[in-house]
Amino acid sequence: MEKTCKICAKPLKGRTDKIFCSAHCKNQYHKYVRYASKTAAIEINGYLKRNYAILWELLGTNKTQVKVYRNILEKKKFRFKYHTHFHINSSNKTFFYVYDLAWMEFSDDEILIVRKR
Ligand SMILES: [Zn+2]
Repeated sequence: MEKTCKICAKPLKGRTDKIFCSAHCKNQYHKYVRYASKTAAIEINGYLKRNYAILWELLGTNKTQVKVYRNILEKKKFRFKYHTHFHINSSNKTFFYVYDLAWMEFSDDEILIVRKR
């Protein structure tokens, strides 16, 4: 089967490991990749920032932990599926982190927010 350029679909000649027909198409491809990763990052970074701001606001400046009703977070449009990392503690509870703040499901309708130092 004849190989074609990944960008313009022209048939490829020469080396069999070629993916692009020209430097122009290769540059074009890298431009698309950069654009796609930048766009995805902007959207998700926005969700993370928003989540962080919500946790930070509920926690206040001096508290290291606070318990809130889940619907308070929902009302503020907290996106539960976006976090930076997670940790399962010795009691088998999962802490979802947004940078240095974390939350966990304390009960069916309560969320515990903690500041990790
Ligand atoms: Zn091409």
